[in-house]
Amino acid sequence: MPIPEYCDPRAEEFFTRGFVGERHGENGTSYRISWDTTHEGLQPTLVLKAGNRRICAYCGNPALSIQSRSEGYPTIGHTCCCKGSRDELEHKEKLEALQARHEEEMTALMNEAPRPSKSVVEVAVSASARRIEQELLDRVDRNSAMVGDQPVGDYIAEQLDHISRF
Ligand SMILES: [Zn+2]
Repeated sequence: MPIPEYCDPRAEEFFTRGFVGERHGENGTSYRISWDTTHEGLQPTLVLKAGNRRICAYCGNPALSIQSRSEGYPTIGHTCCCKGSRDELEHKEKLEALQARHEEEMTALMNEAPRPSKSVVEVAVSASARRIEQELLDRVDRNSAMVGDQPVGDYIAEQLDHISRF
């Protein structure tokens, strides 16, 4: 097949020119142009099923297959060489770039988040510690080694864990 007239310049690289012998090629040339189904740069684009055919959703021309280089060359997708199909991929790339940038900016902003004051944290922690201490003393006064249904030791460990997570 010659390169179709609807081929977008961005898809021309996917057509290869193979030597087929003098004048046996396209338009009396020595080369035959073919769609390189295993080209590494190929990515699937939107294709519709029309009966038992697959057509490009943008231009309606027959979809071009993408094949894996692994054994048996299984078909792994379909695409087209028209402007619409190239625009789809360009749009996808822009979207991915924007998402990546957005994530970077989010991370940067998270790192700029105001940090709690060390002295305020210390005030809170010591107040919590005093409360726990008081609670334990109250329990012990009532001759119980349990805080609720927990042994005193477990209760202390749990409370300390809460504080350290602050
Ligand atoms: Zn198309």
